[in-house]
Amino acid sequence: MATAKYIFVTGGVTSSLGKGIISASLGKLLQARGFKVTIQKFDPYINIDPGTLNPYEHGECFVTDDGAETDLDLGHYERFLNSPTSQANNVTTGRIYNNVITKERKGEYLGKTVQVVPHITDEIKRNIYQLGESGDYDFVITEIGGCVGDIESLPFIEAVRQVKWDVGTNNFLVIHLTLIPYLSAAKELKTKPTQHSVKQLLEAGIQPDILVCRSERHLPQDIRKKLALFCNVHINSVIEALDAETIYDVPILMRKEKLAERVLAKLKINHKEEPDLDQWKAFLGKLKNPTDEVEIGLVGKYVELPDAYKSIVESFVHAGAANECKVNLHWISSETINADNCENILSQYHGILVAPGFGERGVQGKIEAVRYVRENNVPFFGICLGMQCAVIEFARNVLTLPNASSTEIDAKAKDPVIDLMEDQKKVTNMGGTMRLGAYPCKLKKGSKAFSVYGKQNISERHRHRYEFNNKYLERMEAAGMKATGINPETGLVEIVELENHPWFIGTQYHPELKSTVLNPHPLFVKFVEAAIQKKKS
Ligand code: GLN
Repeated sequence: MATAKYIFVTGGVTSSLGKGIISASLGKLLQARGFKVTIQKFDPYINIDPGTLNPYEHGECFVTDDGAETDLDLGHYERFLNSPTSQANNVTTGRIYNNVITKERKGEYLGKTVQVVPHITDEIKRNIYQLGESGDYDFVITEIGGCVGDIESLPFIEAVRQVKWDVGTNNFLVIHLTLIPYLSAAKELKTKPTQHSVKQLLEAGIQPDILVCRSERHLPQDIRKKLALFCNVHINSVIEALDAETIYDVPILMRKEKLAERVLAKLKINHKEEPDLDQWKAFLGKLKNPTDEVEIGLVGKYVELPDAYKSIVESFVHAGAANECKVNLHWISSETINADNCENILSQYHGILVAPGFGERGVQGKIEAVRYVRENNVPFFGICLGMQCAVIEFARNVLTLPNASSTEIDAKAKDPVIDLMEDQKKVTNMGGTMRLGAYPCKLKKGSKAFSVYGKQNISERHRHRYEFNNKYLERMEAAGMKATGINPETGLVEIVELENHPWFIGTQYHPELKSTVLNPHPLFVKFVEAAIQKKKS
């Protein structure tokens, strides 16, 4: 197709209806028909990016290859579409204003009064067209965060209204995701909240083309008719989205409801071929028919909110399916673990993952967990801070350096086995100051890591400030902790593993950010395999 088509996904009635999953599912269905698709998310908050947000505020911060700290919905886009996103795929109100204010300070507005319309809305549209005009995509799906009617999302909604006039009706479509609640006392599905939210969109000058209705119950024909009548949409553009058993069912459910067909018809694209969803269905088949089951303990700090570790959770879903094994994840707060109760808490699991994190809280428990799995031959997977804890534990208990630590935890540590790089020491600003995004890594032949990846040169994503301190490398290796993945440009240690242990790997990078349905991450796949072995032994 010559120019990209623009699809916007708005939300009404409440938040948390799953706009990200609906957008990703539509993307998948179009991609399965051979179209090139990208998905973009606008977040109406003032932070420049979610990098400085506490995970309790907004869940995990997803990092792209180009080092952008982004909303966790981008993780869904990548897991569904199996293609990388970038900074251009996540834009916040803060970034828009920051760009406009920077231009204003440079005098680029030539003395004009800078206003929400047209300057902010132009900047929003620039970010939309930047993807559409790249020539890389047939469809740009833009998810507008928040609900229509929120003060914060008004400039975005106004920009969407303008896009229609810029690109013409055949290149523009709005999908409104809404809630149809069931009132058990009245035994009825209620359409009024949806009617109101569509009215709000209409007030802003936007007529949704398709309604996707989240509901606990099937939408009977009379409800669909009513929605069509009051919301000015065709009855076959009222799409039902029932609660799904897994998010990975949603593309299939949307296919049954003919969401992509409606989109193609509305955009006047003549495309009759059936989507190729064979691999997706094969994945679902394995996911839903496991022949084995393992219990994995996840030791972390934000255990009350599993969204804080979204990509890790999803990586286990992919790896479980690859092994035809149900992976039951058990969250363990690292603050509750100590030397005395460690065995009691951890001995029931077939594998332990020590999670990423920041700050001192809970680190001691993580170190105790590492000691337990090292001494008891339990499969271990340490990610980022988890890897750093493995290094500290080994230095303390095997190299007998009792004061070994990370300078993040103890700034004056006598043995800073994890430390800041020289150029990081000068940084005082909190946002965007980490080692972020994709870096190359070279694996040592003959190592476990090499056998897991089956190749020598890999690229993985990072998000951290502290690093393995190479001053201790020789001693660590001599005692059995090997650095088996090294950044070829800087010499930084990216992977550590233990020689005499069935499965003990720590990665300075975040492998969970690259696991997708079609490409489950090999480290997760092999870790689950090791847990299955542990269970059998
Ligand atoms: N806090 C550690 C660092 O900054 C680890 C970060 C992480 O686990 N993502 O290096």
